[in-house]
Amino acid sequence: MEFRLSDEEEAFQSAVRKFGDKVLRPNEKKIDAEGRIPDEVLRAMADLGLLAMPVPSEYGGIGASAVLTELAAEEVGRGDFSMATAVFFLLEAGWGRLLAIHGTEEAKREILPPVCRGEAFLGIATTEPSGGSDLARMRTASRKDGDGFRLTGEKAFVSGVEEAKRLGGGHLTLSRAAEGGFRFTYVPTRSEGISTQRFENAGRMGISTGALSYQDARVPAKYLVGADGRGLEIATEGFTVARTFVAAACIGAAERALETGMAYIRERSAFGQPLGKFEGIQFELVDLWTQVEAVKWQCRRAAWLLDTYPLREDPTHRSEIARTVASVKLQAPQIAFECVKRVMMWFGAAGYTKDVGLELGFRGIMSYLVGAEGGLNIMRIILGRELLGKEFVPYK
Ligand SMILES: Cc1cc2nc3c(=O)[nH]c(=O)nc-3n(C[C@H](O)[C@H](O)[C@H](O)COP(=O)(O)OP(=O)(O)OC[C@H]3O[C@@H](n4cnc5c(N)ncnc54)[C@H](O)[C@@H]3O)c2cc1C
Repeated sequence: MEFRLSDEEEAFQSAVRKFGDKVLRPNEKKIDAEGRIPDEVLRAMADLGLLAMPVPSEYGGIGASAVLTELAAEEVGRGDFSMATAVFFLLEAGWGRLLAIHGTEEAKREILPPVCRGEAFLGIATTEPSGGSDLARMRTASRKDGDGFRLTGEKAFVSGVEEAKRLGGGHLTLSRAAEGGFRFTYVPTRSEGISTQRFENAGRMGISTGALSYQDARVPAKYLVGADGRGLEIATEGFTVARTFVAAACIGAAERALETGMAYIRERSAFGQPLGKFEGIQFELVDLWTQVEAVKWQCRRAAWLLDTYPLREDPTHRSEIARTVASVKLQAPQIAFECVKRVMMWFGAAGYTKDVGLELGFRGIMSYLVGAEGGLNIMRIILGRELLGKEFVPYK
């Protein structure tokens, strides 16, 4: 057992941290205020190989391991506290990785290189207006039509609808196949028969969230991802990977909040001494740090499991991966939110100002508590199923 990063991993982590300090932090308020990540930031990420980084080099990526991607996600979450850049990063990393594994050769050669260059967006569309947790009851339908498919229905709360329209690109989209089972296809947003709507979110303003509506939209056969009819399993595989990177981004944000808080409570005095000398505050810091440290190493282990055991092959490893990923996705957003909330309180009134900027994290991390990439209770259901057995899943 080796509980430390390799020299290569440490060097990479430090390069991404520098990028976060030099490029993301100075831009985060602008990203939040203007509602988009500036093109030069995306270009800088592409130059560092950060966009869709697990994608193999023949399709434009750097073929990064899940461990390296997890480390990068921590740093992107630490760099842009609003979480907008982290969302952009992790969607492309998670779903780009999946497309590189399950996409057709033609689709991979067409879709992935521009995504890795920051010239197109790749996201995921599974949630519908009627719900996102219970995917098996989703309504969007597809049917075979000549050499391709036709898609009808509506997706909601989808990240990156505007980016996919502006830059080009699209979403891996889950539909109910008329021929049986579920179908997972890449759907370019600029296709005929597709319209979009942007929602006004509370946070992570730099990446859009919205609806996609499909009116008998044509999807070429080359865009099928994985075996036809097995779309739900393929999408679940993608969620497992993307959730690991979500947790990593939250851990980066949690660490940043604590670092900000520690600097403040060393300096700020009340009743004649620094705030950090009061046990009421010092012990809060200690408890938060302990939890962040524990979930960080569990998250890195989740990434290591993804690298070590190909998903879906061996039931024992599949269960271990499912447990570990659900556990970190359950904990990391909660502890990150708690860190931001507590540090805001250590700052007193200043913590509530936009100047100090903690509220960026408060609004951004909340998206992962309400549901993005799966709600907390869904993580609990996965864990309950893995610990007690399928017969204990509390729904039909
Ligand atoms: C900012 C943001 C970005 C998003 N981006 C995307 C995206 O890119 N693509 C995409 O497809 N979706 C996206 N989503 C949607 C997200 O996947 C859903 O919010 C999530 O799956 C939950 O679905 P829902 O919101 O419809 O809540 P529901 O499914 O209606 O659930 C509501 C609440 O009930 C809980 N719940 C549900 N079932 C149970 C149960 N059996 N037991 C106990 N509690 C339960 C849930 O955890 C949740 O808290 C995004 C959401 C947000 C907030």
